[in-house]
Amino acid sequence: MKSQLLVLALLAILMAIASAKKVRYDNYKVFKIRTQNLEQQKWIENLASGSKNFNLWHSGKGEVHLMVNPQKLIFLQNYTRSFNMPLDVMVSNVQSLIDAEQTSKAADDLNDFGWTRYYPLSAIETFLDDILAKYPEVTSHIDIGTSFEGRKIRGIKISYKEGNPGIFIESNIHAREWITSATATWLINELLTSEDANVRKLAENHDWYIVPVLNVDGFVYSHETDRMWRKTRQPVEGSNCIGADANRNYNSHWLESGGASTNPCDETYGGAQPFSESEVKGLADYVTSIKERINIFLAFHSYSQFLLTPYGWTKDPPTNFEDLMAVAKAYSDAVLTLPYKTSYTYGTTADLLYFASGAANDWAYSEQDIQLSYTIEFRDTGRYGFILPPIQILPHCEDTLAGLLALVEKADELGYLQLKYT
Ligand SMILES: [Zn+2]
Repeated sequence: MKSQLLVLALLAILMAIASAKKVRYDNYKVFKIRTQNLEQQKWIENLASGSKNFNLWHSGKGEVHLMVNPQKLIFLQNYTRSFNMPLDVMVSNVQSLIDAEQTSKAADDLNDFGWTRYYPLSAIETFLDDILAKYPEVTSHIDIGTSFEGRKIRGIKISYKEGNPGIFIESNIHAREWITSATATWLINELLTSEDANVRKLAENHDWYIVPVLNVDGFVYSHETDRMWRKTRQPVEGSNCIGADANRNYNSHWLESGGASTNPCDETYGGAQPFSESEVKGLADYVTSIKERINIFLAFHSYSQFLLTPYGWTKDPPTNFEDLMAVAKAYSDAVLTLPYKTSYTYGTTADLLYFASGAANDWAYSEQDIQLSYTIEFRDTGRYGFILPPIQILPHCEDTLAGLLALVEKADELGYLQLKYT
């Protein structure tokens, strides 16, 4: 009895230590700030630049979402008022959202993988192992290399037959975007288990390459320490700030057009050089090695409900812009027919968000000649932002499947699924 008490006391201490090291966001608010031009958008971005008190959740044309330390509330209100920028509260207490997201975890066991909660990396890896063991004929392991902190980056290939066109999915490059890996694992399961005729065709007539968590270090950090972490975890020489924005680190017009930051303390820091982040280099090397086999490249992100086509670094439209838009429209229209009525907007990154350079979709399009290449920003539009409640995971996955079915059908109709290899 005494030893049991001792164990319980030790456990309580360990849990206290674990929760003590977690970053808390009590009374942090997220504001929607309406901006009239790029200059105003930049003012808000500059407020967040290198700041611990302000954190950008979304920065797009006409609208910026900013998380604010409660101590800086009055400052922000005065600042936005002086520049005549209207302000609405989107999230009144970020910590409450995080707490609500965590409590739903207790309900089921880590060993029973499903899509009613968000899982840590270890559970996602076990899920992949189980899938590989259960479907050895049609699945194989993809090795993307090793992260800065030494973790294996894993993916899975699903192939039912030779000679299929390929679809590549990069997911959770931004650590805090948990809905992306939840969707990627759901999709893997769906492609292997669904009995729906349309899904069977989608699964069996295409080769799927899916990397559920690319930024493994950041993802673990977002689970264990800071729910709002976005970047990688590689220290930056000469700076106290850690990590780069991996989706500004691809070697394609890197740091051009002001589409990424040179300040290591910024959320969009592009890294010391292109491919400075081993996670990005690993993914790029793998895609390069099989690029003839890839017809469609998709990067899963959240949030905003956007399908973003190239380019991010310039406002010039890509050569097959009309087709890119037609395929995006097919996705958006299909999602809208579901009862959830989730509305996706589409266009080039540079048009919808202003500039973002060194991103995966531009790299896949420009450097790997993958003609259909998109960033998909998942649910929602800001009510919960990155902390999408677990109850929305499954409805969101249904959205994604409906979108993908339509996207692939349209791509085929427009001739994009022809084999590029012999
Ligand atoms: Zn993202």
